[in-house]
Amino acid sequence: MSAVSFEGRVAIVTGAGGGLGRAHALELARRGAQVVINDLGGDMTGAHGAVTMADEVVEQIRAEGGIAVANYDSVATPDGGRRIVHTALDVFGKVDILVNNAGNIRNGAFTDLTPGAIDSLLDVHVKGAFHVTQPAFAAMRDNGYGRIVFTASAAGLFGSIHQANYAAAKGGVFGLANVVALEGAPHGILTNTILPAALSRMAADMAPEQFAGMPTTPAHMEPEMITAMVAYLASEENTHNRELYSIARGRYGRVFMGVAPGWHVSVDQPVATPDDVAEHIDRIRDLDGYAVPESMVAEFALVP
Ligand code: NAD
Repeated sequence: MSAVSFEGRVAIVTGAGGGLGRAHALELARRGAQVVINDLGGDMTGAHGAVTMADEVVEQIRAEGGIAVANYDSVATPDGGRRIVHTALDVFGKVDILVNNAGNIRNGAFTDLTPGAIDSLLDVHVKGAFHVTQPAFAAMRDNGYGRIVFTASAAGLFGSIHQANYAAAKGGVFGLANVVALEGAPHGILTNTILPAALSRMAADMAPEQFAGMPTTPAHMEPEMITAMVAYLASEENTHNRELYSIARGRYGRVFMGVAPGWHVSVDQPVATPDDVAEHIDRIRDLDGYAVPESMVAEFALVP
């Protein structure tokens, strides 16, 4: 069995002042990475920032003999993204690993969500990941090596009541990660996405009705369970790209987006009508023989 090592590697973990990001950063540092600990501090909405969160993680890493530096910028602006990446370049000379983890939350029933509740989530999750990944990607491409891990959510991929804004943002993260993965692969940059479920202050913010139907049997929900997957994906050991992994209740599993073989109208047949769709809906919905395309072009190529 191989030991996942980050000796000689430089990592950035966004939102690393607490929760999952803190666990990721500690593990990467313990395994030899030099780590930029980004966090603006603050509450779960992303407001009332305080630098102490990032500083405390840096202090812990240093106390354990590791190497880390703090950055207090918000991921949510282009300047913030650039400064986070430049912290790695200025202090450690390169960036090999980026873990896009920073996130905020503002739950509410769909019709209660304010424009601010969607804007602030898109700003942090989608634009934040975009603004940090762009300069990090450029540095990795110049170096011919990189590992990027995005943090989406089962809420974004499968749906979760009272989280329309959060789900929209996490769905956007998934779309962004797909393209970064396609563009990065030729340059040795491998990009993957996780759907974590772990006990953190964010999970504690869920309303009881959001848990309706959830199993209550004891299960692993420690942040370190998520970190195990993140660290693997961030390592040289990982050779997979553009994949999605769910980590929940002790189960690690690949998640995929498939397309059914469907019902096909060939060019020598007339243009379909709504009545044709109604007639063939069972065949259109039948998942038997589905495919998992690796890009938009690959999906088009499935159709004869
Ligand atoms: P958390 O609130 O403990 O951690 C999020 C961190 O991001 C905080 O330290 C916060 O200060 C930081 N942050 C917020 N806005 C920021 C900004 N603009 N710039 C920089 N840092 C910022 O929550 P967590 O559960 O550890 O969440 C980590 C990630 O995992 C998030 O992206 C979250 O959406 C995702 N996630 C968590 C769960 C779960 O079960 N905990 C489930 C699905 C997805």
